[in-house]
Amino acid sequence: MSARTISMTDPLYDYLLDVSLREPDVARELREVTAKHPHAAMQISPEQGQFMGLLVRLTGARRCLEVGTFTGYSTLCVAASLPADGVVVACDVSTEFTAVARPFWRAAGVEDKIDLRIAPALETLDELLEAGASGNYDFMFIDADKTNYRHYYERGLELLRPGGLVAIDNVLWGGSVIDSAKQDEDTRAIRKLNHFLKDDQRIDLSLLPIGDGLTLARKRH
Ligand code: CA
Repeated sequence: MSARTISMTDPLYDYLLDVSLREPDVARELREVTAKHPHAAMQISPEQGQFMGLLVRLTGARRCLEVGTFTGYSTLCVAASLPADGVVVACDVSTEFTAVARPFWRAAGVEDKIDLRIAPALETLDELLEAGASGNYDFMFIDADKTNYRHYYERGLELLRPGGLVAIDNVLWGGSVIDSAKQDEDTRAIRKLNHFLKDDQRIDLSLLPIGDGLTLARKRH
């Protein structure tokens, strides 16, 4: 026993999935198809997807934002947890990646809840702000190019209602955040955001060691 987070061995991880993962078949199939993709590492883990679905239900979210859709697994997890009139605005620059997602979204019966926007996410978020959508969103997932994370976060915070939640992926970045030899732009951007968030009084904060590190930031009232 220890007062710190447990180290996750492979057998223990298998056990975790065995006793808690409730992944629908269509989501598993999408995950298996994506696993063969050259950028497979960009996909979130299934327990993280399930956790995000739980967050959507906990926050009573109806309107969600996603920055970085890739092949649509996280989108599916979020959309499946939304009520019938819920929507995810899913932002990605790749028609090729998101084309993988569509048949799975359809098979899962969530296609109508997903508003896919193929454009740089900053443009889409700015359009929403210009259209007067400030404070209209309940939940946001950020999982795209790391150098823009801070910009996505700032726009997201404006678009969220008080009490809304931002989830930010890859905040431990494979451990690179503590490796001083790693000075690439992505790693530096993540470090900088992590430090910034610690003192950001606009939010309540928790960094969870799930997947590659997931920060939860709740917009304060
Ligand atoms: Ca990610």
